[in-house]
Amino acid sequence: MIKISKPQHALVQNQLLASLPQADYQRWAPHLESVELRAGQALYGAGSEVAYVYFPSTAVISLISMTRDGASVELAVVGAEGMAGVAVWMGSSTMFGQAVVQSAGHAYRLRAPTLRGELQPSGAVLALLLQYTQALMAHVAQTALCNRYHTIDQQLSKRLLLALDRSSAVELSMTQEGVANLLGVRREGVTAAALKLQHAGVIRYQRGHIVVLDRDRLERCACECYASAKREHQRLLPSWPMRNPPSGVPLPYPRPVPPARPWHAGFALAT
Ligand SMILES: [Zn+2]
Repeated sequence: MIKISKPQHALVQNQLLASLPQADYQRWAPHLESVELRAGQALYGAGSEVAYVYFPSTAVISLISMTRDGASVELAVVGAEGMAGVAVWMGSSTMFGQAVVQSAGHAYRLRAPTLRGELQPSGAVLALLLQYTQALMAHVAQTALCNRYHTIDQQLSKRLLLALDRSSAVELSMTQEGVANLLGVRREGVTAAALKLQHAGVIRYQRGHIVVLDRDRLERCACECYASAKREHQRLLPSWPMRNPPSGVPLPYPRPVPPARPWHAGFALAT
C-alpha cells in the first residue's frame, strides 16, 4: 500500500508519487510515462482491463457509473491528489466503473503489470481482503447509481434480495419506516411499493416481518443493480454467497437469537 506522507519529490506534481519513499520512487521513475490527456477521453470502461494506472498532475478524471441505457452518475473525482485504476493494486485487473477525463491536462501513467509487480500482495489473506474491498466499493458505487435513477419499487425489491443473500433466514424483520430510512425515501413510497409486491403475491408482510414468497419474481422486480453488484462480488470472490469452512475447523455453535421486534410495533400494511 502507498503510504501518504509529506511530499519528498517536489517536482512531481502528484501527491501519491511525490510521497513515495525515495527507494520506491527511484525504482518507479524509469517506468513512469508522461502523457497528455484529452477531455472526454475514456481511460478504461466498466469491466474492461485496466492497462495503465494514471497519476494526474493537472488533468482531472471522473470515475463514473452508468445504467444499461446510458444514464450516468459521477462517483468520485481524481486529480493531483490521487490515481485512477486502484483495482490494479487490489488484486484485480478490471474496474467496476469508467474513468473519463473531465479536464484535459497532464498525468503520469504506469503499466498495470509494473505496479502489480511492485506491490505484490504478501499473502492469500491480504489478497482476499483487497478483493473484498473492491467488491464493497462496487456495491457502494451501484447504490449511488441506484439512488439517483431507479424507482422505489425497484429499490425495495433489490434491498430485500440483498438482505436475503446476506442472511440464512427466510423471513426478514424490517419495518417500512426502517426501509424508507435505508433507501433515503419517504415511508409512503415504501408502503406503496410493498403493497404492490404483496398484491402481486411476491411477498407477505405482517407487523414488521416480510416473507418472500416468490424470489424469481422479486428478482424481476428489482433493478439491474442487484444482479450487477452480485456479479461483481462473485467475480472477485467466487465462493460467495456461502461455503462450508475448511474441513476440520468447527464453527462455534450459533447462540440463540431473541425474536426480532419490529422497529415500529403495530405498523402493518393495509390489505
Ligand atoms: Zn438500482
